[in-house]
Amino acid sequence: TSQPLLLSFQVCLFIRAVLFMNNPVPPNKRYQPTEYEHAANCATHALWIIPSLLGSSVLHFQSEDQWERLSAWVYGAGLSSLFIISTLFHTVAWKKSHLRSVEHCFHMCDRMVIYFFIAASYAPWLNLRELGPWACHMRWLVWVMASFGTTYVFFFHERYKIMELICYTVMGVFPALVILSMPEQAGLCELLVGGACYSLGMVFFKSDGIVPFAHAIWHLFVAMGAAIHYYAIWKYLYAQPPNQIKTSR
Ligand SMILES: [Zn+2]
Repeated sequence: TSQPLLLSFQVCLFIRAVLFMNNPVPPNKRYQPTEYEHAANCATHALWIIPSLLGSSVLHFQSEDQWERLSAWVYGAGLSSLFIISTLFHTVAWKKSHLRSVEHCFHMCDRMVIYFFIAASYAPWLNLRELGPWACHMRWLVWVMASFGTTYVFFFHERYKIMELICYTVMGVFPALVILSMPEQAGLCELLVGGACYSLGMVFFKSDGIVPFAHAIWHLFVAMGAAIHYYAIWKYLYAQPPNQIKTSR
């Protein structure tokens, strides 16, 4: 009776090899990507470094006052560093994985930068739009949350994966509730679609060894979400005609 079982197991292994994918690992271990997956992980974020730098400078040059300029810088720094750090980490994980502590350090940075990226993505909306009397506290609260997340990664990196997921979700969703209460609602639709991209991508983030190139697909969802959010920020906060009233700060 073990003959068909063995055969189906071998067929499984063969399919995996054809799909350029390794076996899934238990939750306490890290998945080992194949060479092709490593290359895809690097390429899918490296591609966005130049566009994110260019996009950031567009916002800088379209700024009309110091608040817009500051927000453009903060957002641009978050956006570009996400793709730069991610590309660096995946390159080190691919080519220098024998340097364990270096790789570990880059992996931590890769996770930390996500918190700052989320805070930076919200910053232009929170800084440039009129908010309610208590909603405006979210302007500094996002940075407190990002710092908390970063500190958490520093001390407990990879130890409680479910806790990390909760932190990212709180950080991602909580400020959105404040944004939803803005008197000026233009751009909300794009914000929600971008958020949906990130959420959908999380499915692939958790599918290493189950879906081939799962992590690279996650990267593409991140890039898509970031592109939609960039478009919304550019269109509704920076590219508006000057006669349209931008809110009091
Ligand atoms: Zn990655």
